[in-house]
Amino acid sequence: MNRMICAWAVLAALGAGQAVPQWWTGGFEAAFAEAKRRNVPILVGFVMDNEEANDRLVSTLYKDPEFVKLTATCVAMVAAREVHPPLPGAKTVTCSRFLGMPCSVHRSIEEAARAHIFGTKTVQTPYHVVLLPDGTSAGAVEDVQPTPAYVDVVRLAQKQLGPSMTAEQFKVADGALRRAKAALDAAEIADAVSALAEVDKIAKGTPFGKEAATTMEAVLAKGRAAIDDAKKLDAGGDTAAALRSLAALRADYKGTPVADEARKADLALRKTKAGQAAAAQLAKEERAAPILDKAREAEAKKDFPKAAREYARAVGIAPGSPLAAAARARLEAFRADVDVAKLVADALSNFDADEALRAIDGLPKADRAAITAALKAIVETWPQSPAAEKAKALLEKGG
Ligand SMILES: [Zn+2]
Repeated sequence: MNRMICAWAVLAALGAGQAVPQWWTGGFEAAFAEAKRRNVPILVGFVMDNEEANDRLVSTLYKDPEFVKLTATCVAMVAAREVHPPLPGAKTVTCSRFLGMPCSVHRSIEEAARAHIFGTKTVQTPYHVVLLPDGTSAGAVEDVQPTPAYVDVVRLAQKQLGPSMTAEQFKVADGALRRAKAALDAAEIADAVSALAEVDKIAKGTPFGKEAATTMEAVLAKGRAAIDDAKKLDAGGDTAAALRSLAALRADYKGTPVADEARKADLALRKTKAGQAAAAQLAKEERAAPILDKAREAEAKKDFPKAAREYARAVGIAPGSPLAAAARARLEAFRADVDVAKLVADALSNFDADEALRAIDGLPKADRAAITAALKAIVETWPQSPAAEKAKALLEKGG
């Protein structure tokens, strides 16, 4: 990130659209960790000042768009021991010969890379070495050569390594993996799954991709355990909760084998008698859900009478559901607030009448006397309510 910002700052300072090599500025040792994560070779260019071949290389190869592109596909480092004038107009101290870094970076890289590659021997510059992430040499280019010579030696090393990521791709994949882990910590499974799928798309086959795949396996294992839990809910008699959980799993794990397994478990459940009843209950909940949303919207806008009416409707559509419990809780909160209770008195009164009507469903069908008494009580207590109308009709039918 810093490197990119730096490169842009340099470009802005130059006032030119010319691309610059993506030089690694994180130090020689850290380059190996970067190369391992991205599964790319390391290219080290040893160059010096005030020498014809070196100057020609810096003014041609390092400005060749083909070479600039190559530096994005590996960890490219420039190793030079001299100090150069700072780039005029740059916000931070920037080397004017190797853009995007202060001279201290290419100098410390020169020292460490020379010790690593040549030991105590001297280097005949310009000289470019390609290393594998494990530090072994994968080839070198002496003197100044046409650009394809550098491209070939990096490509050959890349072939040995297999799938890789550019610095940009790694940045995206790394960000996605971080997002996935944060989502997992927050139990936001759907976000974690989609972020991990994004990592897989970019990093598949790289060591980094394997790390993400391990995380994905752990997430999928969680999903499979949740499917087992849903089956236990069904075995324990709460089939509606089992179906609800399976539906959530299908949404959270979209695009993974767990979604498919959840779908199969859902289908199997719906074939049972309990499953059919639970599915009917869920269908009611699905109808009630947008009404609950409307109620919440109205409450947010402080339109309490409308909110109360919609909450009461939601309870009526899916009684006995968690959704109804949530709606009922809001109505009780309205009742507890003196000012709001005044505004929603009618809705609360109708709601109480409806609740009384619903309670009759719980009475034994044979107990006609109790049912009749309860219906009459509704007509007397809430004469203006729609429930009273229904109670009257039921009384007429019964009588
Ligand atoms: Zn410099």
